[in-house]
Amino acid sequence: MSHTPPALTPQTLLAQALGWIDEETDALGPAIRPATTFLRDPADLGRAGRSFTRDDNPTFLQAEALLAALEGGEGGLLFSSGMAAATAALHTLRPGAHVVVPTRLYSGLRHWLATHGAAWGLAVTEADYGDLAGLKAILDARPADLVWIETPANPLWHVSDISAVSELAHGCGALVVADNTVATPILTRPIERSVDLVLHSGSKYLNGHADVVAGALVAAPGQGALLRRLAAIRNDYGAVLGPFEAWLLLRGMRTLKLRMETICRNALAIAGMLQDHAGVVEVLYPGLASHPGHGLAATQMSSGFGGMLSFRVAGGEPAAHRVAGAVRTIRQAISFGGLETVIEIRRGMEGPQSHTPPDLLRLSVGIEAAEDLIADLTQALAA
Ligand SMILES: *Cc1c(COP(=O)(O)O)cnc(C)c1O
Repeated sequence: MSHTPPALTPQTLLAQALGWIDEETDALGPAIRPATTFLRDPADLGRAGRSFTRDDNPTFLQAEALLAALEGGEGGLLFSSGMAAATAALHTLRPGAHVVVPTRLYSGLRHWLATHGAAWGLAVTEADYGDLAGLKAILDARPADLVWIETPANPLWHVSDISAVSELAHGCGALVVADNTVATPILTRPIERSVDLVLHSGSKYLNGHADVVAGALVAAPGQGALLRRLAAIRNDYGAVLGPFEAWLLLRGMRTLKLRMETICRNALAIAGMLQDHAGVVEVLYPGLASHPGHGLAATQMSSGFGGMLSFRVAGGEPAAHRVAGAVRTIRQAISFGGLETVIEIRRGMEGPQSHTPPDLLRLSVGIEAAEDLIADLTQALAA
């Protein structure tokens, strides 16, 4: 296996999965290594090398290296889910640590912080990252240990200025983590904007087929010590991915560029159609000039604005339920980043602490033909 990725474009890196060749068989495709235990060198009693799959498994390496190459990081680690990766990052902290998060945050992480994070002694402050002076005042009043970024953020697709937030966070010595699940490294590379650690739910676009739950962290160059701590946390908490899931994740990632191109094109076409529709009162998509984050997204995201959009229909919550129930080609389902387009009433999924309007419909746009999706939404809006 070759461990040095040549300077190729993301499209080629992905298509060839870094071009690694299996040393044993010369196979162009990676092997699945289900073994849990590895032969020990009697001389060093397992202090070097591999010992047990909870610690490390060779099937992880190619996906980890590919993701690190795409993000421009020092290295990557796979986890058993996006939440396992997120909580591993938070477990680098100590009780009493101050964590600053954006007001619009993935609801699963908000829930973890409010329950387990609070019980463990993390002090969490929510800040509006659209107000950088306000964020600075918060950090001046109480320096943060960790500043969390998510952009574009669920479910209104708020866009945060990664460079500006990182600069403020580093000003008080905080570690900066960016959840890049929605943008993917095809559209945004947070490490180029000074982020220390990039998080992915691999369950979404990276795998892309809605058949694997996985997570990943990529550390910025120079963060090797952080990467080793995170590997120890993964081992100690047992948040390890199965070798088969790691193999499936890599297989899915190989078409990421192609999928994102089609997804972004479809999403922009659908957002435009919804914006012009008399039955729609608001469309939230960073690719539309009407979105408050559009200008920032245009500078921070390249080659597209992603596949996630939300909209509100005339007639409020009952009308939103009617539309969600009337789609035929599109399916009503949770999650996103798969091949097929799914719609959901987001508020119902987020629980009582949700800030989401009850009539908000969230769409994860897939790789179907845009005309079929537009026809389906048109008939559902007329239903
Ligand atoms: C889904 C998601 C997560 C959590 O990932 P899982 O793989 O479901 O644990 C974290 N952040 C964002 C933005 C997500 O959409």
